Amino acid sequence: MGKITENYKKLRDSIKEDVTIVVATKTRSVKEMAEVIEAGAEHIGENYAYPEASEKYEELDDLAVKVKWHLIGNLQSNKINKALPIFDLIQTVESIEKAQDIDIRVENAGKIFVPILLEINSGKEKTKTGFMPTFTSIKKALIQMEDLKHIEIRGLMTMGPDEGNPKDARPYFTITRTLFEKLKEVNTINSKMEILSMGMSNSYKAAIEEGANMVRIGSLIFGERQ
Ligand SMILES: *Cc1c(COP(=O)(O)O)cnc(C)c1O
Repeated sequence: MGKITENYKKLRDSIKEDVTIVVATKTRSVKEMAEVIEAGAEHIGENYAYPEASEKYEELDDLAVKVKWHLIGNLQSNKINKALPIFDLIQTVESIEKAQDIDIRVENAGKIFVPILLEINSGKEKTKTGFMPTFTSIKKALIQMEDLKHIEIRGLMTMGPDEGNPKDARPYFTITRTLFEKLKEVNTINSKMEILSMGMSNSYKAAIEEGANMVRIGSLIFGERQ
């Protein structure tokens, strides 16, 4: 058994079944991706729609369509048309404007709607994009986005602050989880709080304890990035 296969299986076995593992594959080769898909991975997360994800999607061919593709990096508006045919879930919608930019392009991409998550700036960092972590502001945003007919808001995603020790990420996971639970009571036409995506290789255990049902993991499976 290859190292990647072994690492993925071990990780999958160690996490409860109702937590989805999105395998973060930025900078990883198509060969490494093929191995993890053959090991049973069902969700792939890429950061750059174009050219990285587009090229890998094409090269993986039959294997590409076996898995769900998640966009976990920032989506520039000029890459939306490239992203739409590939991604099953866009996790990084950081503003109402970005949701609108996506919405107007969905039909042309031959889709009826696209599932998205709202990215929460849980650390309220000035240098970061994302929705501020307050119930009233997000509720207002959900209501403002109700007329977007081609997006479906499925939940929340957060990274937590870049700086500092990963074990200090827990409070930001707690904040996001609390929002997620509260927002379940806000029913809008095109939103339903089902997915809570938080935690990476060095923080996924805390994230799951704080209620994440989706984690995004790269280095733990592939080794450190070069
Ligand atoms: C790279 C990345 C991950 C995975 O990071 P690892 O430390 O390699 O597990 C998770 N989420 C996002 C948004 C990423 O860009």
